[in-house]
Amino acid sequence: MSSKKGILIVISGPSGVGKTTLRQKLLTQFPEMKYSVSVTTRRPRKSELNRHDYVFVCMKKFKKDIEKGRFAEWAEVGGNLYGTSKNFIENAINSEYDVLLDIDVQGASQLRKLYYENGVFIFISPPSIDTLRNRLNLRKTDSEQEIDARIMLAKNEIKESNSYNYVVVNKDLNKTLEDLSRIISSEKHNKTNRK
Ligand code: 5GP
Repeated sequence: MSSKKGILIVISGPSGVGKTTLRQKLLTQFPEMKYSVSVTTRRPRKSELNRHDYVFVCMKKFKKDIEKGRFAEWAEVGGNLYGTSKNFIENAINSEYDVLLDIDVQGASQLRKLYYENGVFIFISPPSIDTLRNRLNLRKTDSEQEIDARIMLAKNEIKESNSYNYVVVNKDLNKTLEDLSRIISSEKHNKTNRK
């Protein structure tokens, strides 16, 4: 009987570091890879689509899902709740699909315990805090106060980066994409051949 499973590619990093763009490009490069669409209580931003970017739910529904054990991990980030569907990732990896996740450091730490064998944990770091602040300003999605809060959060997240398998500094998008593709291809190869 085959015990082959897909792998989880977990990407974390501060808000504004470029994770969304990198994620979209990676999914184009690895079309067979599935993206884990998170559930959140946060309000949708203008460009976001329900079930594509996130599954947007109210607090009551999120809490019910916690009670029912529907999340592989969940966490509060910046005052909103975010969670990963356990069913989705289990079904995908059991069907030998690789899954890409964009989750925060708390969620990654929970998944590290559950999917130690099958997970690759990658932290995307900004070249500096100043660059991150500039990117958040350019994005124009947050108020100055929200940006300050995100910067404070980013500093704490960067402290956690040493528990990841890889830290990639996103200085140049194409170079970062190359690094990520190389990591994913090699981990896919290693983890698949180990079984
Ligand atoms: P944003 O609101 O900017 O889309 O995301 C805020 C933070 O929540 C980001 O660091 C993102 O990686 C994280 N996040 C998104 N989905 C999940 C999830 O399902 N679980 C956890 N723990 N964090 C998530």
